[in-house]
Amino acid sequence: MGNSAWDTVTNRAVWLADGVTGLPAGLAGGRYRCQACRERLVLKGVKPGAKVAPYFSHPNEKACTRPQQEAQLDADTEVVIRLRDTIRALPGFHADVHVLGEGLDNPSGLPPVIICTHGETTVALEHPGPSLPDSEVLRRRIRAVREYHDGARHVWFLRKDPNQFGKLGSLTVRYDGRDEEHHTVAPTEQQEAIVAAGGQVYWLDGKLVLIPYGVHWFFHPVRPGQDWTKWPKWRSDPRADWRISKPSPARDADCWGLVPIALSSMTRSQAVFRPTEAYQVMDKLYVSQQARHRWRNRHAEELHRQRRVEHTAQSGRPGTPAAEDVPEAEEAITDVPPPSAPSARPRVAADQSTPAPSAFPEPAVSGPPATPEARADRTAPGIPAQPTYPPAAVPRQTSRPSPWRKLLAALRRRR
Ligand SMILES: [Zn+2]
Repeated sequence: MGNSAWDTVTNRAVWLADGVTGLPAGLAGGRYRCQACRERLVLKGVKPGAKVAPYFSHPNEKACTRPQQEAQLDADTEVVIRLRDTIRALPGFHADVHVLGEGLDNPSGLPPVIICTHGETTVALEHPGPSLPDSEVLRRRIRAVREYHDGARHVWFLRKDPNQFGKLGSLTVRYDGRDEEHHTVAPTEQQEAIVAAGGQVYWLDGKLVLIPYGVHWFFHPVRPGQDWTKWPKWRSDPRADWRISKPSPARDADCWGLVPIALSSMTRSQAVFRPTEAYQVMDKLYVSQQARHRWRNRHAEELHRQRRVEHTAQSGRPGTPAAEDVPEAEEAITDVPPPSAPSARPRVAADQSTPAPSAFPEPAVSGPPATPEARADRTAPGIPAQPTYPPAAVPRQTSRPSPWRKLLAALRRRR
């Protein structure tokens, strides 16, 4: 006997604790369905003077044929219902739990989705249970949400547990003049399906939310007039590098990097649940990346030129390099990368006892488990096209305290 049912007439989830006022009693033409097994349910205990509290019964008071799923869906639905109540308590907010993308066969196993609105903003909020259904079911859900409210942002808050968080390693990135460690994860097929369908996947991690971007490994191509070999004091292949795709990971990303932001930072704007700070970090990573790519290419040119000069000097020939050896640099080559030069590089076999040379402030980092060599078979030689995703627009900021802060606090409590 579950505490919830799908009302197929309204496509909303009925939660018994909400009360059943206005709902017809009995079989009611089969409008109530079990969330787990899809059997028609009977609403009982609603007549005046009934000796029991209202409840939904499978026919003939039989037990659900999927008792485990029934219990799990009830538990997951309760989390969603309480979150809905928190949203409803906020001034100006409306929230309802909807059953979208479900059919009379093949239940998705997902709890209801919360459709919350504030002013012109509508967000579909998912907080699934421990496991996600397969990708086709997720796509069905996403399509249904889109049909219900075109333009609604579809946000999935996942749990940071082994089922939903495949940690790979970490990536050292540099921006704002400091190094940061970002987790990297291997997205599941389901998570990729959500993002590919336009949804957003975030992980809750205590007071933090982890926002993903795409990491694409590649090797810099060797162009004429460049020397990428045996860079002094480098412990790894300088050609091994990466680029970012943002604000959502591109489909062909090798893994996802995660920007941690404070939950509370998502509430400083009325742009509901938009991770503005994470998008700003991604923009900085992109700027750093461009500087890093430029610096390495120019250093390869500079090294080539220096070595040509040394070689010709040793061989007794005039020390002036041939004209074609002079790199066509857009800017003067410097010995020191620009201050914003990032440090994110794939992990390579390195002598960790060797201090990072100050002339090349790109320290060895703990990176993905795969070495660049191991990845060579799936990285085309050459700088891939820049991501087609436009830079994230920065929503209007406001210092006005937002009621979303309370909502997020509630969400955190109910992970
Ligand atoms: Zn059932």
